[in-house]
Amino acid sequence: MRHGWRYAMLGATLLAGANMPAAQADSTDPLAGAPGLGDPYYPLDGNGGYQADHYDVTVSYDPPTRQLIGSTRIDATATQAMHAFNLDYDGPQISKVTVNNLPAAFDRNGDHELTITPLLPLLPGLPFTVAVQYAGPVNSSDDSGWNFSPSGGAFVAGEPHSASSWYPLNDSPLNKATFTLHASVPQEWEVMSNGIKVDDTVQNGTRTVDWDMRQPVAGYLTTIAIDKFQFLEQQRANGTQLLSAFAPDALKAKDIEARLPEILDFQEQLYGPYPFDVAGGIFVDTDLQFSLETQSRPIYAPWTDLDTVVHEVTHQWWGDSMSVQHWSDICLNECFASYTADYLWPERKDGKDVDAQYRETVAKYHDDPKFWQISLQNPGVGQEFTSVYYRGPLFLHALRRTMGDDAFFPAVRDFVMGHKYGNASMPEFRQFMQTRTPQDLNGFFAAWLDRTDRPGDEFLYPGSLHS
Ligand SMILES: [Zn+2]
Repeated sequence: MRHGWRYAMLGATLLAGANMPAAQADSTDPLAGAPGLGDPYYPLDGNGGYQADHYDVTVSYDPPTRQLIGSTRIDATATQAMHAFNLDYDGPQISKVTVNNLPAAFDRNGDHELTITPLLPLLPGLPFTVAVQYAGPVNSSDDSGWNFSPSGGAFVAGEPHSASSWYPLNDSPLNKATFTLHASVPQEWEVMSNGIKVDDTVQNGTRTVDWDMRQPVAGYLTTIAIDKFQFLEQQRANGTQLLSAFAPDALKAKDIEARLPEILDFQEQLYGPYPFDVAGGIFVDTDLQFSLETQSRPIYAPWTDLDTVVHEVTHQWWGDSMSVQHWSDICLNECFASYTADYLWPERKDGKDVDAQYRETVAKYHDDPKFWQISLQNPGVGQEFTSVYYRGPLFLHALRRTMGDDAFFPAVRDFVMGHKYGNASMPEFRQFMQTRTPQDLNGFFAAWLDRTDRPGDEFLYPGSLHS
């Protein structure tokens, strides 16, 4: 994710942060799947007792009335004996739930819990199928779900929550699954989503588009976008198909997106082979405050520039293919996306002196305590998307200058490739980087990642960064 703001524009409210009490998962019933996976920031995200393996989502959407009719089938595997389990869902009204094709009781509770009680208990290790039918109008809700476009179209975007606004799921990066979408709209509209466009057929005034994401994807990285799109089709030298879509007032971004093959080549040299079958982007013309790295096809806000595209494409490795374990690990996503776009691209493409850029930035905020006060590792709930952008790149540049390019670049590539299609944490990253250098990094990591004040000069000005 990238916001339209920069540190210099940050108000006191955002830096003060949110102070939300953590809800507790009810673990009193041993035969009910836990209603959350215990994320330190969002303990009720995701659910225990099963693993979702594949989502097959069928929706029809009518832009004039904003009516959604949905039917989602989830192939899952029970990890414990259960007479009840939860999905995360806060979309339109549910009419029917079945488990293994038998009717199941259901109850909606809390912010986004859907508790399902199958007719027959589920047994550990066995696969089961859940089907949920629902219909009703969709609502926009504070950038965490449906957004509406000037043309009357709509799209879903939001981090960490958005998927539960249009289909029920196990909404945690810890449960990534493959994802298929069958979307129907009136024929004059187009549909974009993640992965391969398998089919696009118009029949009796209705357009149906099928999409297939064959690599596992976290819920917030799935999207559906409906608009009067124009398209840009490109191809990489290796044959990878690139499909990008532009809402009517977003066509000016075509020149930037035309550089996607070059951007992907640049990223591959840094981080290894592009992890998905296809790529592209969805350029909206809604007044959106953020761009988001939805898998294989980021959603781009109208203020998107080249730097933003490089940022979101970096996330395809750092965030999408390799996902956080917990939201406190967010630096793995945003520190790398920001460093790649703000430092590595200008350095390697434009010959910029990034050591000078680093020293100027440090000097500018040297005596600004607010700049240093939100820790990069475990920044706190509601503060995930702050310091990782403006201090994250400084951390990685200082780490690179501490280890040296010959150690740093192969190490970060091996780390992200080693967690392909999986999850990773900041503690794992620290341990891994330590194995790639004889220097003791403990003091460096503590100063840059754990502390809430400026690192000491020995960590601020390592090696060639010495002022
Ligand atoms: Zn980002």
